Amino acid sequence: MRDDLRQLPKVQTLLESASAEDLIAVYGRNSVAGAVREKIDLARATILADAPMPDAIRSETLFWKDISASLNQSRQGSLNRVINSTGVIIHTNLGRAPLAPEAIAATQAVAASYSTLEFDIGTGKRGSRHQHAQQLICELTGAEAAIVVNNCAGAILTVLSALANQKQVIASRGELVEIGGSFRMPDVIAQSGAQLREIGTTNKTHLADYETAISDETALLLKSHTSNYAVVGFASSPDRKDLAKLASANALPLVEDLGSGVLVDLAPYGLPDEPRVKDVLDAGVDVVTFSGDKLLGGPQAGIIAGRKDLIDRVKAHPMARAVRIDKLSLAALIATLDLYREPNNPIERVPVLRKLAEPIDLVYARAKQLADGLAAQSGWQTVILSSKARAGGGSLPQQDLSSFAVALEAPPFSPDELAERLRSGPVPIIGRITKDQFLLDARTISDTETAEIIQAAGSAVSG
Ligand SMILES: *Cc1c(COP(=O)(O)O)cnc(C)c1O
Repeated sequence: MRDDLRQLPKVQTLLESASAEDLIAVYGRNSVAGAVREKIDLARATILADAPMPDAIRSETLFWKDISASLNQSRQGSLNRVINSTGVIIHTNLGRAPLAPEAIAATQAVAASYSTLEFDIGTGKRGSRHQHAQQLICELTGAEAAIVVNNCAGAILTVLSALANQKQVIASRGELVEIGGSFRMPDVIAQSGAQLREIGTTNKTHLADYETAISDETALLLKSHTSNYAVVGFASSPDRKDLAKLASANALPLVEDLGSGVLVDLAPYGLPDEPRVKDVLDAGVDVVTFSGDKLLGGPQAGIIAGRKDLIDRVKAHPMARAVRIDKLSLAALIATLDLYREPNNPIERVPVLRKLAEPIDLVYARAKQLADGLAAQSGWQTVILSSKARAGGGSLPQQDLSSFAVALEAPPFSPDELAERLRSGPVPIIGRITKDQFLLDARTISDTETAEIIQAAGSAVSG
């Protein structure tokens, strides 16, 4: 042990070597010194614990290779591109919607330069950042007015703060959703300064329950789209139209949190009839809130659309300023919304919708290409399985999308080890493990990514 300790190189000597100098030129002296010191400390601790000295200390080449890799990794940071092969199209942990090229270009243009964010070109005076998206949203949804904030959670909080402060919000027990990330509707209502008036039961809420609960204290009726779960069986809630009539008869706004707002009819693509934002507003809902990066397929954003007098109150509330959208997301959102305008076909142009609607034979062809490409590399065994993909992001909770996945084996590695190895490449590849099999789902990857996976896979199981 003593000998081993004595053999440990000195940090100062290491830093004077030619290898260190090369790295210092790239990463700076402090970073290199830190990485070297850390490695030597670790080696010392290993020796003191009576474990054998690591190879990377015995071999100078290996030592510098390790240092270079860890410096490179820390320089890259941790927010990086990945390939989503999970089969979940709107994967919140993987950043939800990939943007269309048009949205990326719009973001870039606004990012690299000054813009008309709050400037009116006509008058040369101050303009409003809310103006840019409003017209498009109104055109696509039939709303009278709209405002965009940084996400849907912020949208709900802002709407409730502006319209229900110090008063009651009537909501059905069956719709008091938790969205994830500790966002629970009862807490949001409380946070907005409103009081929740819960009605009905978990499975059934009747129109009469709303009617009985209405009083002078009521600010609004709140409906929430149960987007990430479904109460099935002996369950019912009033028709949206009837609820809208009741609200209107009592001069109260009906607000609906749609979560994943859909602008197009997805039924022709074999997807259940998610209510379109337009349908919801047509049914008499006064204000809707929905996300920019779920089924809409744009950047993170929360859209509030509906009756002008109500939206004006929302716009004027300080919370709207606190959660306002940034210019990059706004540019991406506008460009994405533009893809929904005639004569564009959003199903072809918006990546999330394209993946959702892709015909199954094309998904199969991609799975086949992936399986063949991988099988041609030494070490991999592949089988194509039919699988179930999902919309995700709390959208279409009960709807499985038919798909194909490639089940991968590379003896002697376990499914967990394979998953770990594919995650550790320069572009991490994220699959899923089902029934002790490691799967790569072909619905969520693109054709270029298929080629990338095949290329990356070889080194993933070698060495
Ligand atoms: C996803 C979701 C939200 C939150 O949307 P974010 O854009 O993630 O803030 C709110 N309500 C419902 C019903 C949702 O599904």
